[in-house]
Amino acid sequence: MKPHILLICGLISFSQSACSKNKQPMKYNKLTPQEAAVIINKGTEYPHTGEYVNTKDSGTYVCRQCDAPLYNSNDKFDSHCGWPSFDDEIKGAVKRVPDADGRRVEIVCANCGGHLGHVFEGENYTAKNTRHCVNSISMKFIPTKQTTMEKAYFASGCFWGTEFYFMKKAGVTETTVGYMGGHVDNPTYKEVCTGSTGHIETTEVIFDTSKTSFEDLVKLYYETHNFEQIGGQGPDIGPQYQSVVFYVNESQKAIVEKYIKILSNKGFKPATLLKPAPVFWAAEDYHQEYYDKKNGTPYCHIYRKLF
Ligand SMILES: [Zn+2]
Repeated sequence: MKPHILLICGLISFSQSACSKNKQPMKYNKLTPQEAAVIINKGTEYPHTGEYVNTKDSGTYVCRQCDAPLYNSNDKFDSHCGWPSFDDEIKGAVKRVPDADGRRVEIVCANCGGHLGHVFEGENYTAKNTRHCVNSISMKFIPTKQTTMEKAYFASGCFWGTEFYFMKKAGVTETTVGYMGGHVDNPTYKEVCTGSTGHIETTEVIFDTSKTSFEDLVKLYYETHNFEQIGGQGPDIGPQYQSVVFYVNESQKAIVEKYIKILSNKGFKPATLLKPAPVFWAAEDYHQEYYDKKNGTPYCHIYRKLF
């Protein structure tokens, strides 16, 4: 237990430093008595009780009092000491001062002076050999915003027709037609049409997983082309028109496999090839959103309900 007089001194020195740095008083978050006991009065929360001791999510730890970013989750490590531990701080965010106990090094928020904890060196926990031992209550964790955008790559013959349906699908935010799976970098349409580059006409689909799903896109894919045709699509014959899904992760692969099975069970013979996604090369501008530019409809892609 610290002598009461030290707590008062800490409070006074904190108020002075905060005032002397800024002529205009800064707007700080109102602290609860528990928060103030640590942040202002330099107390310490009991080990293994803090909110963030075992937090492993990706994000940023900011100052509870002033919201200044202090630590990145990448620098957090498990020290088993009972408090959140970091081996580095966000540059310039944390100030080191000699602790009132004359032994340890105290760490405070460089912006507001709020007490964070202590820093220790030479313990060999990590390569940086530093442990910021921080009270959870001195910080607020802001998780990294998880993106809901995902990419998918579908080939079902002439890419004009493939894109026509995907660009109209709710939840799809962007489509681009291009070439995938060949052995020439940045091919032209002319080169691809010779069949010698190995590319397949493909539509890149960017979609919002909070509004649609890869599974919904796979259904649309199968409902808009003749997936039983081998070596072409409709009147377009050649390897670049083959039915192919280029998957970007194992989950996409599993979903396509599931639909190939469903269709096989319905008596169809799906000829779709399933390949890991290589580099996508965007096609020339005049191929993009072709039917909408021409006010036309596809000659070889007709919707039929299957699911
Ligand atoms: Zn602060």
